[in-house]
Amino acid sequence: MAALDGLPPLREVIATHGIAAKKALGQNFLLDLNLTARIARAAGDLSKCDVLEVGPGPGGLTRGLLAEGARKVLAIEKDARCLPALAEIADAYPGRLEVLNADALAVDPLAHLTPPIRIVANLPYNVGTELLVRWLTPPAWPPVWQSLTLMFQKEVAERITAQPGDKAYGRLAILARWLTDPRIVLTLPPEAFTPPPKIHSAVVHMTALPEPRYPADGKVLNRLVAAGFNQRRKMLRASLKGSAPDIEAKLEAAGIKPTARAEEIGLESWCRLARIVAASGSGA
Ligand code: SAM
Repeated sequence: MAALDGLPPLREVIATHGIAAKKALGQNFLLDLNLTARIARAAGDLSKCDVLEVGPGPGGLTRGLLAEGARKVLAIEKDARCLPALAEIADAYPGRLEVLNADALAVDPLAHLTPPIRIVANLPYNVGTELLVRWLTPPAWPPVWQSLTLMFQKEVAERITAQPGDKAYGRLAILARWLTDPRIVLTLPPEAFTPPPKIHSAVVHMTALPEPRYPADGKVLNRLVAAGFNQRRKMLRASLKGSAPDIEAKLEAAGIKPTARAEEIGLESWCRLARIVAASGSGA
């Protein structure tokens, strides 16, 4: 049965264009258009937005984004074998889909889009985490994008949304919660993908806050959090020893017990410590 957009089913698209999944490119495709429509809807109201999609593959999610009314989709795909399938989608939605055959880690496409911009992707997991950290560390806040809706390995999604005390709590959770309101909006079993990966996956939706949740210098905060969690079993007075002179007094001034461990400290306290360290001139 033809889909609502008049385009062939994705299985047929893959067969016609010979897009056999390549492991090296992390290709696990979503072929159920009901599911890709759900992910597109999880990204919010797309009708007045330009959407950056990274890794469209044969275009299942791309079709969902366009059908959900995205003003324009800029899709960046590294695998040239996918281009003819994406060109068919561009023909079905005249003037609304632009495709860039490039490595998403090597280009900065946000400059080619008109705000408001939403970013949506089902990417190989290593690329996804790297891009997430880049999108969360722009030169200034608020960033040019309004929201991120990204598929991750479920375990990584849990690291992004973790709370203090959770096993998964660490740098990603602190960075994401400082700047956004990260939420898991969908969890998918391996069978949702072709071919199925070994693990479950989850979609995380993050809306950019107008300003960071608590004031702090991002570089100082990142440096402290990295040092704290690099030695997460150690007490903070030991793991942060090299991060600023007289760290024990600074921890106490921030209301943090020097004997506490990184995983026990909430975002507000981390930000307070970052302000104290920066104000003492040991932020650089
Ligand atoms: N979005 C499609 C879907 O949901 O069915 C494909 C998802 S598949 C997990 C990941 C896609 O990202 C593949 O099409 C792969 O070729 C592409 N890709 C991998 N690395 C990339 C990179 N560095 N830049 C752009 N695309 C990449």
